[in-house]
Amino acid sequence: MITAVPSLLQFASPGLEPALMWDPAAIGDGEWWRLGTALVVQDGRAGRAAGWHHRGMDLERNVPFDVQAYEARVKSSPCFICAIVAGDPAYDHEQIVYEDEHHLAFLSRYPTLPGYLLVSPKQHVEHVVRDLDEDAYLALMRVVRKVALAVEAVVPSERTYLLSLGSRQGNAHLHWHVAPLPPGTPYEKQQYHALMSENGLIPWTRAQAEELAARVRQALS
Ligand SMILES: [Zn+2]
Repeated sequence: MITAVPSLLQFASPGLEPALMWDPAAIGDGEWWRLGTALVVQDGRAGRAAGWHHRGMDLERNVPFDVQAYEARVKSSPCFICAIVAGDPAYDHEQIVYEDEHHLAFLSRYPTLPGYLLVSPKQHVEHVVRDLDEDAYLALMRVVRKVALAVEAVVPSERTYLLSLGSRQGNAHLHWHVAPLPPGTPYEKQQYHALMSENGLIPWTRAQAEELAARVRQALS
């Protein structure tokens, strides 16, 4: 069933013929993800009315993000990836989707897009290319690819962004961001806009994160 999301209809231009561009059934479980409203197509351009539901919940980025509090936290905290690797109970709510001897993949705590994941080596290294020899670099990238393909299998996406970010002053542990862009995202809300937490987070609950992580794990198995 396709459900309209009035708050997202503001992106639609009047007079355009709506056309369904994405079949929720194509991603395996139409009840889990639903297209929130019909995408709009004109002259080959598509998608200005896209919106997604997760179990009936609007995935608009309506959760504000406190940038200053986040900056203060990451600059003053010990390495959170090393804490996860060490099994620190303070991090037992992290949703780990993949683990092998040298790598870890887990859902982002601050998702700006559904399915946003991080992939990192377990070893505390910081520079994306200089701190890994070629074999270790390629092994990490194989995990990034594997995880990205699994995410694409369960989350609707028209493109997947891969970035290595972090800072020497906070979140220094090397990690790759795997960020799937929902189909039909308007151009001005793609790329950096889609990634910046300052533009709002999606309203995930812990139960939804656990469910998504389980689906990604299943796709990886
Ligand atoms: Zn670390």
